Parts: sequence; C-alpha cells; structure tokens
Amino acid sequence: MAGARSGYIQQLPSGSFRVSVYAGTDALTGRQIRLRRTCKTERAAQIELGKLLEQADAGRAPETDATVAQLMDRYAEIADWDLSTRKANDAYIRRVIKPALGHLQVRKIGGPLLDLLYAQLRRCSDPGCAGKRFIRHRKVPLLTVDPASHRPAWQQVADTIRDAIGSGMLAAGDPLPSVREMSSLQDVPVAALQHAVAVLAGEDLIVVRQGRTAVVAGNAPPDRRSGPAARSRDHDCKRAGCQPHVCKPMTAKTIRNIHSILSGAFATAKRWEWIAWNPAESAKPPATSRRPLPATSPEDVAKVISEGRKAHPQMALYLWLVAITGARRGELCALQVCDVDLETGILHIAFNYVVVDGRRIRKDTKTHQDRYLAIDQVTCAMIGEHLDMVRASLADVGVKLHQDAYVFSNDPAGATPWNPDWASHKARDLAAAAGVNLNIKGLRHYTASQLLAARFDLRNTAARLGHGSGGATTLRHYADPVSEVDRRAAAYLAQLTAGSATGALREIRSHALPALAAPMARGNRTDGTHDAGITPGPVPRAVPRSRPLASGRPACA
Ligand SMILES: [Zn+2]
Ligand SMILES: [Zn+2]
Repeated sequence: MAGARSGYIQQLPSGSFRVSVYAGTDALTGRQIRLRRTCKTERAAQIELGKLLEQADAGRAPETDATVAQLMDRYAEIADWDLSTRKANDAYIRRVIKPALGHLQVRKIGGPLLDLLYAQLRRCSDPGCAGKRFIRHRKVPLLTVDPASHRPAWQQVADTIRDAIGSGMLAAGDPLPSVREMSSLQDVPVAALQHAVAVLAGEDLIVVRQGRTAVVAGNAPPDRRSGPAARSRDHDCKRAGCQPHVCKPMTAKTIRNIHSILSGAFATAKRWEWIAWNPAESAKPPATSRRPLPATSPEDVAKVISEGRKAHPQMALYLWLVAITGARRGELCALQVCDVDLETGILHIAFNYVVVDGRRIRKDTKTHQDRYLAIDQVTCAMIGEHLDMVRASLADVGVKLHQDAYVFSNDPAGATPWNPDWASHKARDLAAAAGVNLNIKGLRHYTASQLLAARFDLRNTAARLGHGSGGATTLRHYADPVSEVDRRAAAYLAQLTAGSATGALREIRSHALPALAAPMARGNRTDGTHDAGITPGPVPRAVPRSRPLASGRPACA
C-alpha cells in the first residue's frame, strides 16, 4: 500500500543539498526506508526530490537496512543446497560469516572488506583473532562439591550446571568439556559428573553426542567473536582449562567455499534489489594450489581388487565398477538391479545415495547426473555372476530378487544399500592390506587420468564421470545412449584393470581382450584423433538404435 510519501531538502554544511524521501518501512528490519541523494544545487535537488517521490510512490524501495546475518538467514532458506552441502555451509555461516560480517549492513559490504576478511582467514581461521596473543577463555562453570552437604555430589554438580544454563552463562550450543577433563580440572569425582550429565540430558538441558563433547541444548546462536573478551567475574582460567589461542590458517579451498556462499547470498540480495551490485564480484578469494594427485598405476588398482577378491568379493566388484565407470561412491551404492542391462552392456547411473546425520537419502539426480554408461563384457560377466549368486541364495528360501533391489547390499534381498561411508572404510582397509595408498575418490581419479592419458576424448571422459553438463549434454544428443568412444572407454578400462584377474575372470579375458586390442590400438593413435567410424571388435556390442535416451526405463520404486 503506497501511502502519502513525503520528502524534504536539507542544506548540508558543505553547501550541498541533501534530498531525503520516506519510502515506507523495511519489511525485514521494521525500520523506515529513506531514499537519499546529495546534489550540488538546490535546483538539482528539487528535480531529484520529484524523482525520488515518484520512485517511492511506485513502491520501489531498492535498498534495505538488512544486515548480513539477516541476509544469510533468508538466503539459507531458499538456497538450492543438497543436504551435505547445507550442513557444511550452515557451519561456515555460523562460525565464520556471521561472527565476521553478520552485524554489518548488506549495502555497506564492499570488495575490499571481503578481501580483508579472506586475508585474515588465510592467517587464522578464527574470525575474532586479530593476530595478537590472547587466551581463549572457555565457558566452564566452577563446580564445587561440599562434602558436609546432605545433598549428594552429583546433585550439587547438576545444580551448578543447571544454574549456569538458567543464568545464560552457558548458552545454547556451548560445548561442555568431557567428563574426564572436567574431573581433572576441577577435582570432582568422575562418577558424580557422569550422573549429573545423565540427569541434565534427561531434562533436555544438554545434549550428549556420541563420540563428541556434550553441548547445551537448543539452537546455537552465531559464534561470537572469540577474541580476548567474554569472561565472567568469577572465571578461573586454570579451572576452566583456558589455553592461549594458537592461530590456524584456513585453507584456500575453505575460503573459496565461504566466498561462494557470500557470492550467492549477495547475488540474491541484488536480485531482491536490496543492493545495486554484488560486492563479492569485486573480491578475490585465494587461488587453490592444485597439487596433482599422484596417478595410481593399473598394477596398484589391480592389487587392491585382488585383495578384495580374497577378503570381500562384493567389495572387489564394487571397486572394479568404480574403476570401470568412474562413478561416485554414492552413485554405485544407489545402483539397483533394474539399472543394470547385461544384454546391451549398459549401466544406468540414476541416483546418488547419501547418509547425512544418520538420515539415509536416495537423491534423485536424474535431472543432474542421470547417465548411461557402457560396460564391457568382462564387467557384465562379473555383475551377472554376482547377481546369480544373490538369486541362488534367495531361491533357497523361495524369494525372488526384485528389480529395485540394491546391487550392493549387506542384506540378502538387497533392501538397504551400502552406506557410502562404510564402502569408503572398507576400500581403505583393502588398500592398506594390499599395501597401496588408494581410496574410492582416488580410484575415480584413476579412471579419469587413465582415459585422458590414453587420449580418450575429454568430453566423453567428462560425461562418463558425470562431470559438468557439457559432456553429458553432448551424449544426450546422440541417437544411442552411449557413444562408440564410451564403448571403447569401458573396454579399455576393463583391460587395463584386469591385471588382478583370477581364475574364471582370466578365462573370460583371454577371449575378450585380444579382440579388444584391435580397436584399442587404433583408438590410441598418436595424433590423438578418434575416428568415429572405427569398427569396434566383437566386445562392445551394437546398441539398438531404437532405444532413445530420453524415455529411458520407468523409474523403479
Ligand atoms: Zn579463561
Ligand atoms: Zn589466531
């Protein structure tokens, strides 16, 4: 509702004229919005006044007094972050952005200020640290147990902590030292502390977290600037276990993350017309030094897979698939029986499975990363063998393997996929047992680097790994779900990684690989070109042209 707008002109001591127009109330801060301009002459000021009144009447109040903290809250609500990104970004906002910039008005932020923040973080990740020595005071209530009291020790301890929370000395989200540390600092029996903590947790005053320190219940407010302040009168550094602050530089990668959060938030603020320009555009986060990952040799990958065959055959197949497809760990965990087409040798990477804070989520990545990958005959045989085994063991109890069963699962019917974290641990253990330094990410890197080293088309490699949209989009436009180059990519990776093959597998190889050699040799031409007209050997089978990518298969469960 546009009410009557009012404005005035005021002469400043400098002789200039300031125009000020009331343009309503800021919906966010509840404060008056005033449009202001300064003009050299009274005549110019009158013209400006007319313009501003018109602007105010039109209801366009482009600027707001909102602070960065308010912007962050609004932006976090609408930002398109997936669950794990959200968790990390929320922590950056709470620990770095809000303490450093939260109190400032969005329109007062400029590139130089952001550059200064990045430079500070490069020195120390604590936004409250000014580079001088200071003691990091901890908020620990002084616990005293009066042996003469009729009340048991645990009750006295619980009362003190309860009072500290009630009085605000301990705020929501504040961590408590561990029971053992508190006991040694304040000379209170461990048993009394344990009892008190259990009682307070039962009252929902504190939250006990598995493997981590307990925290005061409630939503944590943004971390305050932790500098030298924040100390109550009866604070005792020795008994609270305060330590001198030690600067810890923030990595360039983390600062870049923070920059991208800020950049997104300011771009949104610009879209909302809170600000006229995005200050992050004129700031420059530190460049990350790209240390090239040491390339893993096919021999090392083979060693790990061979170790897996002995210790955990299903895991060996999983690692094999990572090497052949370059898929992300969660993408393979989400793989279902219906995603595997052994007839045509195609794997459908449709979902990504993630576990965040104990919540298991199968993210629909169809719009983003849904892709079809060629798999070679050897890989088809391995998957087929695995599924046959699962089917056979289910048949014993009269159960059929469902199309929506997960290929990698620890339960017989494949109802629950592997937890990607578990897969990572398992892979690391196998690599360690094989004496090789390799993890799943490294294996994915292996796929990419080996394909590129063999001069496979970059676009195809990118598409195979689900990198970006460029390559993937190109693939989508092909009549076939997978390109000829991708066929050869699959065959090449299988051949390369097959060093570990044992028994039956070696036998399949002996038939399959010589046949592969011919197209491979031609594919590896030193001029780096890949002739699309190369006729592949017998392994990569022709894909029926009638299978359009867009229609795909019906989504399973
Ligand atoms: Zn202290
Ligand atoms: Zn510091």
